[in-house]
Amino acid sequence: MQRLIFNSAALTILLSITSWSHAADPPPNIVFIFTDDHCEQALSAYDPSRITTPNLDRIANEGMRFDRCYVTNSICGPSRAVIQTGKYSHLNGFIRNGNRFNGDQQTFPKLLQAHGYQTAVVGKWHLASTPQGYDYYDVLKGQGPYYNPPMITAGEDGQPITQKHVGYTTEIITDKLLNWMTEKRDPSKPFMVMYQHKAPHRNWMPAPKYLNWLDDVTLPEPATMYDDYSGRTQAAGRQTMTMRHHLNPRDLKLQGHGTMTPEQIKVWDAAYGPKNAAFEKARATMSEKEILQWKYQRYAKDYLRCVKSVDDGVGQVLDYLDTAGLSDNTIVIYSSDQGWYLGEHGWFDKRWMYEESLKTPLLIRWPGHVKPGTINDDIVSNLDFPETFLDVAGVDIPADMQGKSLVPILEGKTPDDWRTAFYYQYYENPGGHNVARHYGVTNGQHKLIHFYALEGKKIDDWELFDLKEDPNELRSVFDDPEYAEVQQYMKSELKRLRKQYAVSPDDDPGRARRNKPKKQAGQK
Ligand code: CA
Repeated sequence: MQRLIFNSAALTILLSITSWSHAADPPPNIVFIFTDDHCEQALSAYDPSRITTPNLDRIANEGMRFDRCYVTNSICGPSRAVIQTGKYSHLNGFIRNGNRFNGDQQTFPKLLQAHGYQTAVVGKWHLASTPQGYDYYDVLKGQGPYYNPPMITAGEDGQPITQKHVGYTTEIITDKLLNWMTEKRDPSKPFMVMYQHKAPHRNWMPAPKYLNWLDDVTLPEPATMYDDYSGRTQAAGRQTMTMRHHLNPRDLKLQGHGTMTPEQIKVWDAAYGPKNAAFEKARATMSEKEILQWKYQRYAKDYLRCVKSVDDGVGQVLDYLDTAGLSDNTIVIYSSDQGWYLGEHGWFDKRWMYEESLKTPLLIRWPGHVKPGTINDDIVSNLDFPETFLDVAGVDIPADMQGKSLVPILEGKTPDDWRTAFYYQYYENPGGHNVARHYGVTNGQHKLIHFYALEGKKIDDWELFDLKEDPNELRSVFDDPEYAEVQQYMKSELKRLRKQYAVSPDDDPGRARRNKPKKQAGQK
């Protein structure tokens, strides 16, 4: 007991010293760089087999690469709502795309603002309601196109106004971010800015300068590209996200120009016209497998071309931080709203609790705090992002936030009680790509998934994976007697986490559909 008291007193002294030293330093700036649907397979700090991303890699080389950053609900809007609130979807109210974010609730930018931070969001917002808690916002209207995006900002009277732009969206977002940093920011205050790209979201339309980049390359195919979905329950086979059947002519650039101007169309057609003509000519004699292989090359290359523009933009921002003398006292975070299938299992898209979409890239540079070139494999999550931002800024983390600050991990001191298992839940069915509703738990070694609703009907399908033996998750061992104890243990972990995170025991498959979005302010 005596030892406990001593330790607690020592801890109090240590904490006061820590807060004192925090107060003496100017508060760090926070640059949160965020993309949409960018997977580790297309980021060379994780996987150099298909693309080189020197600027994103710079963040990893000068900071920490996280190898197990899991999202709580692998889809765009919900991931963004988790990052605003530090709460799972069932508590922040944004459980599927098409919901409208309740901006009146507690969010991390509001808390930073209350502590003297200047806050801004530039680029993709995708939460339907007007951003709250930001001194400045300039965001894409809805999903946003790749070319000539309308964007919403506050007018002189503070009311949202829509402005038109001509150009490539990724480049426009970078220009706007740099413009805010140089022209609009108050240099006397610390800042937190969210620099958020639409890229590389479907339908992967590259910038003019990259339309022919990678033309002479043949990309390696993923090991699971020809998956036949045996070895798992019905859900994996009943989705509608295969490259083989579900990429449409616009996805494949065989038709359509989206929102381009006549001049942009001319450049586009000069690049895709000859490539498409060659494919159409050969198509009649190509086997089904050869057509799938062509689709993969076309789709993956366009995706990588979009990533390339993101990487260029990140380079410009890092260079600006250097030039402005801001790099030393700025934490730079790179992440995406979820992972993605770049052909693995024959798929595009996300949503599943399977590894490629459960994981998202996370790179963090924070000079003086993070040892350059560190790789971490603790189980972290987008649920932890807002708590981390608050902690970095020296702001108390509200007790009702459900994640944890990553600051101790960044400083090389993972707490003894850090999470060893992670809870996931996906709700959007009926919905795009027909992925069944499911929830589950993983501890990095095993993963238990319960599919509970498909096409508006209740189902009761379970999968269990041994991630060490079967990292590609091709064979569920749920019914294997050898895994009876593992199954029992993972079920107890699932029960424990559902209780800890206050998950409702009965997710009504109709409820999400009834939460219809309202129009965003400024939308017609
Ligand atoms: Ca997304």
